[in-house]
Amino acid sequence: MSRKPSYSPKKTLFGLLFLAVLVFYPYLRAQYLPRSVEFGGETMGTYYTVKIADSRMSKRRLRALHANTQKLLQEINADLSTYDPASVISRFNSNTNTTPQLVTESLVTVTRHALKLSRETGGAFDPTVRPLVDLWGFYNKQDQPIPAQADIDSARRSVGAHLIQTTGNDALTKSKSTASLDLSASAKGYGVDRILQMLVSADCANVYVDIGGEIRTRGKSPGGSAWRIAIETPVPGTALGESHYLTITVEDRAIASSGDYRNFFQADGKRYSHIIDPRTGYPISNTVAAVSVLAPDCMHADTLATALMVMQPDAGLALIAQHTNTEALIIMRDASGQFQDLRSPNFNAAISD
Ligand code: AMP
Ligand code: MG
Repeated sequence: MSRKPSYSPKKTLFGLLFLAVLVFYPYLRAQYLPRSVEFGGETMGTYYTVKIADSRMSKRRLRALHANTQKLLQEINADLSTYDPASVISRFNSNTNTTPQLVTESLVTVTRHALKLSRETGGAFDPTVRPLVDLWGFYNKQDQPIPAQADIDSARRSVGAHLIQTTGNDALTKSKSTASLDLSASAKGYGVDRILQMLVSADCANVYVDIGGEIRTRGKSPGGSAWRIAIETPVPGTALGESHYLTITVEDRAIASSGDYRNFFQADGKRYSHIIDPRTGYPISNTVAAVSVLAPDCMHADTLATALMVMQPDAGLALIAQHTNTEALIIMRDASGQFQDLRSPNFNAAISD
């Protein structure tokens, strides 16, 4: 007696499922990316990098996050870039009216923060330093002659945090027609914060955002450990990432660095830093070679790092002590060119090797 072939609906279903997986596997694989993804581009005269170490993400979602990041950076540049003559800040700078000028909330936010730090530093940090930056020619970087003392004195008369006020949340007022703003010392950090906030609102839990070395992290790195970041040795002419002074872990906070070794201007065989001491009108010439600041957000870290380049190291550390959850590393060059450093009390806790 021949046996009837047995029909099992369960087996057929499994078979069909197996076939579907076989057919669609290459397609699904192509749509989803590995655990850690990265994108970047150019902004603010430098690079930016975003790393996301979340569970598998579709290519479509990654493309959307990249596009949102680019859009945000374009908006921030349209507000804060002094290199763009059509930006909101450039229009404020060239407008000589001393009545309130309607600007944008971003510009007011960063200006308010920078003016506050200017008061805290007794004017060592000053977002109204632009006439001096212009005079020294760091914007066009050509081998310029050293400005005449009379021109330095004249530019200094248009510099001072008291010359610009925030008016409500979306307007700025200058009390002298020649006063102008330069927020380059804080803009990258502000950009990092805005990108990180956007990514966190889009449910990214493990994120690293870097604009030209100003970095903020959230959550964990791809291996599940804290994000580790190398601080460079401040040697002129070193390529990015070439030599590490030390490596630190940055957990749910920001690190920003400022130095006299990458951005400078040469005249008569002497190197001049792009950071100016508004109190003298001259580029800084102290023993501080580089500063790194750890802070809860990147705008504070970026601004404080520049401020500490101008200040005496002890005064810099005293300022850091007034800011919560903020640490600093000040690298100084001694007479023989060797590096020594000063660290705020809890800086060492972040060192990872
Ligand atoms: P950073 O690279 O963040 O240290 O910022 C340096 C930039 O800040 C310079 O290129 C100038 O545009 C601007 N800057 C220079 N000196 C000062 C200062 N004393 N206070 C505020 N901003 C400054
Ligand atoms: Mg800075």
